[in-house]
Amino acid sequence: MTRRKFIAGNWKMYTHLEQARELARGVRAGLDATLAAQVRVAVCPPFPWLLPVAEVLRGGPVALGAQDCHYEREGAFTGQVSPYMLREAGCQYVIIGHSERRHGLNESDEFLNKKLHGALQAGLYVIFCIGELLSEREAGQTEQVLYRQLTAGLAGLSANDLTAVTIAYEPVWAIGTGRVATEEQAQQAHAFIRQTLTEQFGTAAAQSVTIQYGGSVKPDNAAGLLRQPDVDGCLVGGASLKADSFLAIVRAAL
Ligand code: PEP
Repeated sequence: MTRRKFIAGNWKMYTHLEQARELARGVRAGLDATLAAQVRVAVCPPFPWLLPVAEVLRGGPVALGAQDCHYEREGAFTGQVSPYMLREAGCQYVIIGHSERRHGLNESDEFLNKKLHGALQAGLYVIFCIGELLSEREAGQTEQVLYRQLTAGLAGLSANDLTAVTIAYEPVWAIGTGRVATEEQAQQAHAFIRQTLTEQFGTAAAQSVTIQYGGSVKPDNAAGLLRQPDVDGCLVGGASLKADSFLAIVRAAL
């Protein structure tokens, strides 16, 4: 089955306001109609830049995403951002479960599952990140970890809910390290993820799911990764902070 490739940029806690606008303008300008018809593209700026970046992207082919959200619609949750607020700010996507939150902020599978449900209820598309630590890979536990993160993380979702979810396989040892997974390692993990989704949601749903690879994706390694049969896109950190390198990765998806 052919799945349209999906490239998303995670700007993390980078950019000043004017840089964010400029970066969004650059990505928008570089995504011509032919490219946009073939590749789905989103950028995920820091929270304060969502509205100004939404202005820049309005009416164009580049979608807007946030990097996290809370699971409740509203309430006494100081410092948190509701998925409904993200919708109102112009977001279509939200990243949930990034390793910098799982491991940096101790967010559990159960907590992330609540966020996933909250985001879907608000009508957002979710980029749900999973991935093993280096110690887990070295101990031969990669599949066990991915299985747990998928089954606990996606608990309570229907096959129909899954149509709004992209899985991002991001081995933690590859994020921001310059140490990219080999094409074989990525394909193997993605095939395992799709197999697990097949068991959980059935063949049709699993075959339709977009599975992105993330972890030190650059213009020179993107094409090889994206050629793998189960690699349907990339979640890009560092290389998404320059329009040129991000667009080169988008073009590599063709
Ligand atoms: C990320 O932030 O999800 C990521 C994969 O970062 P980098 O591309 O910099 O490794």
